[in-house]
Amino acid sequence: MEQLSNIRVIRDLMERHGFTFSKALGQNFLINPSVCPQMAIQGGVGPDTGVLEIGPGIGVLTVELSKRAKKVVSIEIDQRLLPVLEETLADFDNVEVIHGDVMKIDLNRLIAEKFPDMQVVVCANLPYYITSPILMNLLEQQLPIQSITVMVQKEAAQRLCALPGCRETGAISIAVRYYSNPKILFSVSKGSFLPAPKVDSAVIRLDILESPPVNAPAKAFFAVVRAAFSMRRKTLLNCLASGLSLSKEQVVTGLEKANVPSNARAEQLSMEQFSAIAHVFQVFF
Ligand code: SAM
Repeated sequence: MEQLSNIRVIRDLMERHGFTFSKALGQNFLINPSVCPQMAIQGGVGPDTGVLEIGPGIGVLTVELSKRAKKVVSIEIDQRLLPVLEETLADFDNVEVIHGDVMKIDLNRLIAEKFPDMQVVVCANLPYYITSPILMNLLEQQLPIQSITVMVQKEAAQRLCALPGCRETGAISIAVRYYSNPKILFSVSKGSFLPAPKVDSAVIRLDILESPPVNAPAKAFFAVVRAAFSMRRKTLLNCLASGLSLSKEQVVTGLEKANVPSNARAEQLSMEQFSAIAHVFQVFF
C-alpha cells in the first residue's frame, strides 16, 4: 500500500470509494508523513502494547500503530470509511476496526475483551469538535490504560496541559491533572492536514496516574472546580456562591476554613487549595 499521507493516494481512495470529507465529524486527515511515526513512537507503542485508536479515518496513523504494536483496535463512527479501511489495512492481521461512536461504547469492557494481559495505550488524531468530551470520558472511566497520546488543536493542548496557577488554566486543566501527568510533545502545522483546519495543532501525552495527586473527595472536588471556573475573571466568592447555590456568608466561612482568600480567582489556585476547599464544602454534596 502506498503512503496514506500522500495527497494523490488520498484523492484516489476518495474517488474510488465515493468518499467526501465530513466537516461535522472533524475529518481533517494527516498528510505530513513524519507525524504518525512520531506519535506512535512517543506514544510508547511497542511489540507488547495494545493500542486503542479513535477515528482512524483512512488509516494513516493506524498503519504506523499496527507496524509497531501487538494489537490495534480502532473505533470509527463514519460507516463510509469502513470499506476504505478494509483496503488500506489489508496487509495487517493485528488490527480490528470497530464501527461506532467512542462516546457510546463501553470502553472498559472493550479493553478487557480485546486486550487481555496487554499494556494498553490510547493513540489518536482526535476529531476537534469533541476533543474535551472524549478526553474526559477516557479519564473519568478510569480505564486500565498507561497513557493517552492525542493530536488536538494547539490552544486546546495549552489548556489541557496548563499548570494550575497559570493564565491558560481552566476546569479541564485541573481535571486532567487529577487523573494524569500531561505534557505537550510537539506542534503540528495546519498545512499537515487535508483539508487544512484554521488553526495549528499539537500532540500531547497524558500519563495516567495510579492515584490522584490530592486526597480530595472526588465529587466535591469536581463540583468546586466547575463552579470556581464558571465565570471567568470573577472572584472565587462569587463563582462558588453562584455555582454551588450557597450564600456568600457560607462561602466566606468555608474559604476561611480552607485557608483560601475569597477574592482569589480560580486560575490562581493550586490542586491542594482546590482539595482543601472540597474537604470543607463536601458537607453540601
Ligand atoms: N486518524 C485520521 C488521520 O489522522 O488522518 C483521521 C483523523 S480525523 C481528525 C478524526 C476521525 O474521527 C475521523 O475519521 C472521524 O470520522 C472520526 N470520528 C469523529 N467522531 C467520532 C466519534 N464520536 N467516534 C469515533 N470516531 C469519530
